[in-house]
Amino acid sequence: MLLALLYQLEQSQWWSSRNILAQQFRQLNELVDHAERTVPYYHQIRRKAGLAPQEPITAENWQAIPLLTPAALIKHAGQMASTAIPPGHGRITGLKSSGSTGHAVSVLATGATGLIWQALNLRDHLWQARDVSKRLVTIRSGRYVKEPGVLYEFPGWGIATDLVFQTGPSALFHNLTALERQAEFLQKLKPDYLFAFPGIILRLAHYFRRHQLRLPGLKQVLTFGEPTSPEIESLCREVWDTECRDMYSAEEAGCIALQCPQTDNYHVQSESLLVEVLDDKGDPCEPGEIGRVILTTLHNFAMPLIRYQIGDYAEAGGPCPCGRGLPTLKRILGRRRNRARLPDGRRIWPQLSSESWSDIKEIECIQIRQKTLDRLDIGVVSPHPLNLSDETRLTGSLHQVFGYPFACIFSCLDAIPCHVNGKFEPFISELDDNRDE
Ligand SMILES: [Zn+2]
Repeated sequence: MLLALLYQLEQSQWWSSRNILAQQFRQLNELVDHAERTVPYYHQIRRKAGLAPQEPITAENWQAIPLLTPAALIKHAGQMASTAIPPGHGRITGLKSSGSTGHAVSVLATGATGLIWQALNLRDHLWQARDVSKRLVTIRSGRYVKEPGVLYEFPGWGIATDLVFQTGPSALFHNLTALERQAEFLQKLKPDYLFAFPGIILRLAHYFRRHQLRLPGLKQVLTFGEPTSPEIESLCREVWDTECRDMYSAEEAGCIALQCPQTDNYHVQSESLLVEVLDDKGDPCEPGEIGRVILTTLHNFAMPLIRYQIGDYAEAGGPCPCGRGLPTLKRILGRRRNRARLPDGRRIWPQLSSESWSDIKEIECIQIRQKTLDRLDIGVVSPHPLNLSDETRLTGSLHQVFGYPFACIFSCLDAIPCHVNGKFEPFISELDDNRDE
């Protein structure tokens, strides 16, 4: 079954974008019919969109379908599940998102969606040409790893990969394991591949650099779970002499986009989801424009998410030179709270990179909070305290990054501040209109 699906994905990635869209709308019609019939929240979906009963769903009328926010998903949780899940879709499981938006979202998944997500993970291994006979180490949190400080070792990479390939050993530990111990685990295990949230990679890379430790043999770092940055890519290259690839995924929707094997574009996994990037007016973004990510899960008949505003922002991409017809995203930018508002009305996504202040002082990490329209509070992790002259130079550098002369207030931090799940946000706006929906 998994192999058949993998074979199908191997073909469909090369279909034209027009053909991919046509197949998606064929599936969307089935999904919307099913949702209208069996999901209480969606009983009136066509009427609410101003469509006639049983009117076919097309690319032209699709945008009339109302968006679903995480807040609405929580509010109407009791009405979101299908009352008649097709038995062929397999076992029903409950999933909970990590809640980093402040919302803990619960969704249902099926055996069918699980199979597709597994196949997409295998596609990522194939696209990135990973040698699965080598050793994989994953650092995770929460429901995947129960206890910090404990190292779990396995003979293979996991059920899906083991079914299709002869895999090498793997290991797993919790991101709340003390950093020193994490480094010990990694040095003992000597992984060929390291998978973790970008925030965890950031902390580890700094630790390895500070203690002049090495990980010879590391072939690739894979980040997932939150937006990565050019900073993390350059750290991986500098500290471990390895490349860093990224995957855009969400607990409630599985794998959303994978990085192209030939470019840095993210290819939307259109066989599993319809992804839209919309501007503030609700119109689709052109390539190069930044907007809200809206997704529709095409095969989840237990709890369809239709035009779900997941809370992330992304830059829309154009056709990829690799020839794949799967649409692209250029960058994943994070949540609305990661966007700065300038007094002149502009909104920007600050791209913080240590290269901007590498000649000022040894700085491990900076976290910036926009407190008011013209003030930034900057937390700095550095082995040496900043003096007034360092602060003045850093202020100048930040004025360049933001394109505005913000008042900058500095404070020292002991460590890189992370959420309990290991996620790290370099910039957070605390202005009211930047809070997440
Ligand atoms: Zn491509």
